[in-house]
Amino acid sequence: MLGATPIGNPADASARLIKLLHTADIVAAEDTRRLYDLANRLGVRVGGKVVAYHDHNEHLKADTLLDDVERGAVVLVVSDAGMPTINDPGLTIVRRAIERRLPITCAPGPSAVLDALALSGLPTDRFCFEGFVPRKQSDRIRRLRSLLTETRTIVFYETPQRIGRTMDAFAEVFPPLRPMVLARELTKNYEEVRRSTVADLRQSVIDDPPRGEIVLVLQGASQEELRAAVPSDTDGAEVFDIDRLAREADDLCRRNGFKPKDAIAVTVQAHPYADGSLANKKDVYAAMVHLQQKD
Ligand code: SAM
Repeated sequence: MLGATPIGNPADASARLIKLLHTADIVAAEDTRRLYDLANRLGVRVGGKVVAYHDHNEHLKADTLLDDVERGAVVLVVSDAGMPTINDPGLTIVRRAIERRLPITCAPGPSAVLDALALSGLPTDRFCFEGFVPRKQSDRIRRLRSLLTETRTIVFYETPQRIGRTMDAFAEVFPPLRPMVLARELTKNYEEVRRSTVADLRQSVIDDPPRGEIVLVLQGASQEELRAAVPSDTDGAEVFDIDRLAREADDLCRRNGFKPKDAIAVTVQAHPYADGSLANKKDVYAAMVHLQQKD
């Protein structure tokens, strides 16, 4: 059983979590001191055995805990804050439970991803979560570049120590006017949400370095940004892409015995443009015929 714990405000603990802390036979906690601290604040006595369960030992401990589950014990897995498995321990035991066909469920609750996303005011209908950006500058830039044409809202975790360098990298990669939000110390006394743009947020981080725990929320690429990102000739036609699609479709016909119509349909579907639109099948067919005539 996974249990979400508060990300700052103890009053966010669910009634189910409080009951589980009291009744579970075993509580596997990322940091046992923080578990007892939370239990004290909630006025609950941890009834069962408490074991340390963190990134460094979860591979060793998961199966032992699941042996207990097999014997009928209720095992509660909690991290220091928020949802286990979300940049926190827990995934190993979930996977092993699935492999061993043991029951696993979750008492859900607070998580900084959804809290920040909801407060950001940015689109919530489609979003993705990127966790922490890489520490190394070159990796960080590469990762951010790979997200340049992502159209969903993107959520990142960040720390006060690295926020300056991270914002420099965002400013290097993304358009300066792209809407971006910094949310910090969510659910705590000093909760703050800075709704801004990439360039202004970077400046705000320089002028007033944010302290505490941080989530960054970046709006996805706009249609204008996507159009600018797609390679095109002077007429706006994607000549290179059509030729590549024609070659792939031709390959399917030769190697897999596809009919040209089916090969083109499959290939076009499999390779949408950056803005999600599909290539014109007639153009691909014409390019394919041209290709075959040359052979
Ligand atoms: N499992 C947690 C969850 O569900 O949100 C995340 C754990 S991860 C190790 C810690 C990161 O989550 C922090 O560095 C910060 O980016 C984010 N975070 C956690 N609590 C937060 C809070 N109260 N306000 C803002 N960000 C928070």
